[in-house]
Amino acid sequence: MPRQLIAGNWKMNGLSVAGTRLAGALREAVATAPPPCDLLVCPPFTLVGRLAHVLLGSGVAVGGQDCHAEAAGAHTGDVSAPMLRDAGATAVILGHSERRAGHGETDGQVRAKAAAALAAGLAPIVCVGETLAEREAGRQEAVVAAQLAGSLPDGFAVAGAVAYEPVWAIGTGKTPTETEIAAMHAMIRRTLAARFGTAGESVRILYGGSVKPSNAKAILALPEVGGALVGGASLVAEDFLAIAAAARA
Ligand code: PEP
Repeated sequence: MPRQLIAGNWKMNGLSVAGTRLAGALREAVATAPPPCDLLVCPPFTLVGRLAHVLLGSGVAVGGQDCHAEAAGAHTGDVSAPMLRDAGATAVILGHSERRAGHGETDGQVRAKAAAALAAGLAPIVCVGETLAEREAGRQEAVVAAQLAGSLPDGFAVAGAVAYEPVWAIGTGKTPTETEIAAMHAMIRRTLAARFGTAGESVRILYGGSVKPSNAKAILALPEVGGALVGGASLVAEDFLAIAAAARA
């Protein structure tokens, strides 16, 4: 299995001074104490190029938070996968629940974006996860299985990762139990292996949703958890680094 991946989703946070300072703090810290995992930070588009420069050679990779499905064209306000790659990104978060809910992104659109990311040489991190109502109705596995079937393009297992992010756990301080996380990750692994064969067995399955220093060790120790997608705690260098330090060696 690959090393665990701790990825920070900065969302719509970070002006140039603060963002550069945060990236600089990560750069210094990993030079002194390399974490037992891969690290990725996904700032807003405006900071991708700057952070790629600040973090060059540090071992901390930079990613985007979305991309368009086409490489170029008349799409005002959008950014393409080759543009992200050109700016120094190596990965891109796709289908985050905030984009599915706030921008009406469908599984089909996420699948097209993930295919565009792969074609541009970016590693797509495709987010899936159920709402609270879906979990309370016992439908969480069916919902996530449908999202996986609809959102992952052929060839995804070559470079892609899946992030299981229960919508109700994002930014709320609530997390599923360890048993619930392990059960969902096991289902996702079975699904990936059934669709992609051996390649599907080594795709990283990240957990995301209120990961913090106090719960990271227990979550990252669970079977089939290949890392974490971290929102709020990724904006504080010490917290992000503490989560990284809790990764399985
Ligand atoms: C996220 O938005 O991907 C996320 C996991 O956020 P948080 O860690 O703040 O719950």
